[in-house]
Order: sequence, then C-alpha cells, then structure tokens
Amino acid sequence: MSALRVSRTHFPVTALGPGTRLGVWVQGCSLACKGCMSQDTWDPRGGVEVPAADLVALWREAVGRGADGLTVSGGEPLQQPDALREFLAGVHAERGDGDILVYTGYEESELDQKQRDAVEFADVLVTGRFDITRPTRLIWRGSANQRMVVRTDLGRRRYAEHLDHEPERAPIQVRADESGIWLIGTPRQGGLAGLERGLRASGLPVEGASWRLRSPGQSG
Ligand code: SF4
Repeated sequence: MSALRVSRTHFPVTALGPGTRLGVWVQGCSLACKGCMSQDTWDPRGGVEVPAADLVALWREAVGRGADGLTVSGGEPLQQPDALREFLAGVHAERGDGDILVYTGYEESELDQKQRDAVEFADVLVTGRFDITRPTRLIWRGSANQRMVVRTDLGRRRYAEHLDHEPERAPIQVRADESGIWLIGTPRQGGLAGLERGLRASGLPVEGASWRLRSPGQSG
C-alpha cells in the first residue's frame, strides 16, 4: 500500500472546483514557480505521510457530509505518482457522481507514463506552472498559461460552463488553524492586499498568514 505525503486536507472546499469538495494538498514540489504562494508545500520532507486507504476513507466521510467532488492540489501531486494513483483509483471506485480535479504544474506533454497512469481517473486537470507575469480572470486558474483539461463525460457535464468563466471576484476561502491563516482558491493579482485589509479590519493578525512567507502568487 502506498502513502501520500500530505500538507493538509480540508472539507468543505467551495473555492477550488464546482460544488462542495474535499480538498487534499500534497507536500513536496521541486518546480519552484516564481511567486508560488504555497512554498510551505515545497519541502518533500514536510507534511505527513497518509496511507492512500486512509485518504479514501476521508473521501467516504466527506461524501457522507455532502461532498460531490475531490480537488487535489499542492505541492506537486505528480511527484508522488504511485500513491496518487492508488488514492484516485480508490475514490473513483466509489465516487458516484463526484468528480476528481487535479492541479499540476506540469504540462500534459511533460508527463511520463507513470504520471499519466497516476491521473487516469482524474476527470479534469489544471496544468502548467504558475506564471506570475501572466495574470488571468479565469475561474480556478492562477495564470493565463494554465489550461483546464476536461477528460471525461462527467468532467464535461460539471465543468463546461466554467471553462471560460471570469467571475467578478475570484472565489476564495480563508481558513485559520494551528498553523495560522491560509487560503483556498486562486487569488487575482493584488487580491491578497485587499484580503489583508479585510482581515485587519476584522482584527485578525495577518503577520503569520501563509502567503506572508512568500511573494503573492498562486498554488499549483
Ligand atoms: S505554483 Fe504549484 S507547481 Fe509551481 S512551485 Fe508552487 S506548488 Fe509547485
């Protein structure tokens, strides 16, 4: 059995894919995009190892609480292809109508066979490095070069209306836990400054927020 090194999980996620989702952020990424706002997920020795079966159990629990989709982000999921495949295969086997969305900093053309196998069960991929010089207003994408690749009928049913959608405001969730304040979503350029103003106005300390560890940017 494989274990996936994970940075964090969260339910409900409503800002990174349609519906109400389980979010899993993997730990470890060597792609080093300039401006990445998830540099705390870069270290492959960080986070915790979670057996794929335990993550499938987490998915099952989330479905019981109303989840209708899974989002895997990071970190770089495809730098752990064996464990990712096992996890996604387990979710796929009992997912019902729930879709699987995977973020990767790789382009499809860069994937080796093992990485292609790892995302066999993904309905949708968002591919490509975060490029801080190419801002976008497209929902759920961090920069204009990133592509939303829909691979299944379920993916087409759930994502077709979102492919070219540019919402007035990027959906963002702000969460606080023992590790500090952190974000779910793809903030637009300049969006973090406005968020910090709002947090300050609410009396919340922003100095320890996860994005303060790095330049404003985007998770892959
Ligand atoms: S944006 Fe994504 S792919 Fe790029 S360095 Fe950050 S975690 Fe890695």
